[in-house]
Amino acid sequence: MGIVGGGLAGLATSHRLLALAEAAGQSLDVVLFERDRTLGGKVHSQWSEAGVLVERGPDSFLTRKPALLDLLEEIGLSDQLIATNGTALSSAIYCRGRMRPLPAGMGALVPADITAFLRSDLLTVGGRMRALRDLWLRPPPEGDLSLRQVIGQRLGTEYLLHVAEPLMAGIHSADPDQMSVAATMPGLLTFLSQDRSLMRGARRQMRRRPSSAMPPFMSLRHGMGSLIGALDSHLPGIDRRLGSEVESIAQADRRIAVRAKTTDGRTSEELVDAIVVATPAFAASRLLSAMWPDLAQQLAQIPTHLALTITYAYRRQAIPGPLTGHGWLIPRDQGLTMRGATVMTNKWPGRSTSPDLVSIRAFLGGPSQDALKETTDQTLAELVATEMSRLLKVKEAPLEASVERVTEGNPEYRVGHLDRLAQIDRLLDSAPQLAVAGASYRGVGLPDVVRSGQEAASRVWRGLARSEPKAGP
Ligand SMILES: Cc1cc2nc3c(=O)[nH]c(=O)nc-3n(C[C@H](O)[C@H](O)[C@H](O)COP(=O)(O)OP(=O)(O)OC[C@H]3O[C@@H](n4cnc5c(N)ncnc54)[C@H](O)[C@@H]3O)c2cc1C
Repeated sequence: MGIVGGGLAGLATSHRLLALAEAAGQSLDVVLFERDRTLGGKVHSQWSEAGVLVERGPDSFLTRKPALLDLLEEIGLSDQLIATNGTALSSAIYCRGRMRPLPAGMGALVPADITAFLRSDLLTVGGRMRALRDLWLRPPPEGDLSLRQVIGQRLGTEYLLHVAEPLMAGIHSADPDQMSVAATMPGLLTFLSQDRSLMRGARRQMRRRPSSAMPPFMSLRHGMGSLIGALDSHLPGIDRRLGSEVESIAQADRRIAVRAKTTDGRTSEELVDAIVVATPAFAASRLLSAMWPDLAQQLAQIPTHLALTITYAYRRQAIPGPLTGHGWLIPRDQGLTMRGATVMTNKWPGRSTSPDLVSIRAFLGGPSQDALKETTDQTLAELVATEMSRLLKVKEAPLEASVERVTEGNPEYRVGHLDRLAQIDRLLDSAPQLAVAGASYRGVGLPDVVRSGQEAASRVWRGLARSEPKAGP
């Protein structure tokens, strides 16, 4: 069995495959190819020299979807779960020259508490009045729509640009004209079909939601990267090929030849009976084009965009004022490069080695900022530090800036994404020895990525059973 990609999806696939083999009382040889020298892909944490925790990608995960919580339980990491400091969604949006808190009662991108929304100065008076049209506009025809078609048309352009798009940009690579609402926020379409209004639907959902003992988002005491080490230690017997980039996947009689190139320039070829490709879809597309050209064509239609974070360490006294809240978002028409920031030391316990250190993590990237690929890390770190000084009136330069550049960043689910997935599933029906997994398909959040890896494992396991696996990987 071959697995390409040692990010969370590839590791969850490996973990589930070993469990399936164990439950069946069979042995299974698994070869895991990872281009980098370390496992985890976007999930990685490390302490900086100044003493703040730097996350490459995720700093938390949604608890409402159980796959990751269950996995943490299985690998004995549940006792490392931590909740955010303060349960309220204490974020602000920077617009019209200052930080403006998100009103209370925001549900699924839309105000559930209309009174709180009308009282908040997040939007101009005209913008707030325009949003009310949602209450009496006729619902759009059924089918997939873009974020602009749903939010822009019902709540207005100001709401779209200054609230919905910044909120989405923190999770998805979001171009409002391209982003599929059916694939990313299907609840909004349900609001329209059931309640004929986004705000009425959000209010109904908020009232019905059972109060959970679990905070909505959680993290791990030593950073999300600790998940990778723990998961890795629960993969006994897996042949890990680190620094090994798969270059081609080709038919070899009734088996599959996986050709990889190592960082020192050597090439290897491995024959496997089945393969899971757990890379971003466009990378999978390149690898699968020889054996499954139609599938590769579909996969190539799911792009990813650069995601960049810069984690700054400041001395506490460098920042005047109380610096409350978990962070802020910045709409793209505000003339700033950063799209938002998280005050990591406010949001989570234990994110710096001293109470005198403040860690602020700025976000950049997405479809509107692909050109930042050409800008050096140092230039970006200086530019965003200047913006930080402007927003927070910071009196000193940061002690340090750690730039994390994820070239294959978050995938973009464009309008028609669900139809594309159905087409991909149909094409995979004729290839039981193949599965694809990862954030490019049915959710970018960590729980969805875990589930995707587990489903891929079950799929190829069934495929192997049908074709009676031979000895060897
Ligand atoms: C800045 C940022 C912040 C995020 N924040 C959150 C958050 O707070 N909460 C949340 O739930 N999610 C968050 N996400 C999303 C989440 O981190 C990702 O969706 C998830 O980690 C993707 O996992 P994956 O295994 O699908 O992909 P990846 O992590 O990209 O793993 C793919 C792996 O495949 C390897 N690979 C690629 N090509 C080849 C090849 N040819 N041969 C061998 N190996 C190859 C890569 O090196 C990589 O290790 C964030 C993402 C980013 C970028």
